[in-house]
Amino acid sequence: LRANFSVIQKETGFVNGLITVLHDITEQEKIDMERREFVANVSHELRTPLTTMRSYLEALAEGAWKDENIAPTFLNVTQTETERMIRLVNDLLQLSKMDSQEYELNLEFVEFNKFFTRIIDRFEMSKSRNVEFIRLLPEKSYFVDIDTDKLTQVIDNIISNALKYSPDGGNIRFGFTVHDNMLRVMISDDGMGIPKENVTRIFDRFYRVDRARARSMGGTGLGLAIAREMIEAHGGKIWAESEEGQGTTIFFTLPYELDEAGDWE
Ligand code: ADP
Repeated sequence: LRANFSVIQKETGFVNGLITVLHDITEQEKIDMERREFVANVSHELRTPLTTMRSYLEALAEGAWKDENIAPTFLNVTQTETERMIRLVNDLLQLSKMDSQEYELNLEFVEFNKFFTRIIDRFEMSKSRNVEFIRLLPEKSYFVDIDTDKLTQVIDNIISNALKYSPDGGNIRFGFTVHDNMLRVMISDDGMGIPKENVTRIFDRFYRVDRARARSMGGTGLGLAIAREMIEAHGGKIWAESEEGQGTTIFFTLPYELDEAGDWE
């Protein structure tokens, strides 16, 4: 519901009336509003790195290029900002592809334990943070019909966030269980957590709990929005549980298939 107020004012300046018009925002209006907001967000996200780059390039052009101590740092900033914009544009392209009708999943029948373990291994091999990985994975095989590229991207994103927001010496736990013919995957950290009122919003496009902090860590604010689209395209759900100062757990579900022997579970 939206309210429009009109003030009836005389030339003397006295207010002698107030008209209030209440009306429902139609579905179309809501879509239009969201679209405008989205475009404003995209413009803002692009303008910030562009204006930063402009000022550093100006300084370089005005003579900073001659200073051996300053020039490499300034060039480095413009490089970082360019990379941020490339990530952002790639994420936007991905979202727009998913919004369009032609979006298709490239399904493959894979054993989830093996698939998940390979991704965890890759992060464990390359992580630069002092964070311990704890695996709580079942021994049994579970088969899923998934687009492995897309699911890899979802899991990469969740693990990157867990690493980003983990304290030094923290743990990240990986696990999955079975509920109602669905696999329920869990990735949990004991990082800074998310305030209760924001926990559902982290899957919205461009939503960040702490904009400045998230930006300084190189995020686009689109990672979890993309993850949600991808999980829902697979018939699953994604959500978060979090306690401020204690940590965050991201859950998602996937329908699972019969095992090799043709039995359920
Ligand atoms: P970003 O690119 O900013 O990481 P995401 O869509 O991946 O964007 O995440 C949205 C926001 O959700 C982040 O900016 C952060 O505020 C919050 N968030 C996501 N994962 C975690 C986590 N594990 N711990 C704390 N906050 C998180």
